[in-house]
Amino acid sequence: MKENKFCKKCNKLKSTSDFGTNKSKKNGLTFYCRDCTRIYKKEWRSNNKEHIRIYYREWRDNNREKCNKWQHEYIKNNPDYQIYIKDYSLKNRERINLNSKKWRQTEVGREKNLSYVSGYYRNKKWIPLMDNPFPDEIKVEWHHINNMLVIPLPRITHRKMLGKNHVELCNNWIREYYLSDFISEY
Ligand SMILES: [Zn+2]
Ligand SMILES: [Zn+2]
Repeated sequence: MKENKFCKKCNKLKSTSDFGTNKSKKNGLTFYCRDCTRIYKKEWRSNNKEHIRIYYREWRDNNREKCNKWQHEYIKNNPDYQIYIKDYSLKNRERINLNSKKWRQTEVGREKNLSYVSGYYRNKKWIPLMDNPFPDEIKVEWHHINNMLVIPLPRITHRKMLGKNHVELCNNWIREYYLSDFISEY
């Protein structure tokens, strides 16, 4: 292997160790030297900030689980980073809460959050307040009336009522559906 390589960006003859590796190139080295590559990448990033931001955000939304898994692994293995995160989240609590709220309002976020929440409650061993009264062909979701008790609602109905007034809407629906006969009798 040659010891030196000419960088076409800075027009200098440099040692091959000043170049990064690029397997797709014949000589296995990057086109530009490390210094030039760094500058080039930095420039590219600052010229494409908005694109990168959108791309990254979209990718993250669609790969939330993968991201979280990586993050968890990384955090687990880096005690310093654990301290940093703790500190950071204390200082930015409001902004973080707002962002996660925004995410939960996207379609992907809503789905993921719902499965996360139901998984959470599954582990908590929640208790159905009543048996499922709906026929088999109606898909059912369990609405939490509190931390422990759940009540079956048709999935379509329950999904329609997701959002800010979820609890209120569900309560009204439950009252209508489950309790109307009961109320009129007494
Ligand atoms: Zn160079
Ligand atoms: Zn619910």
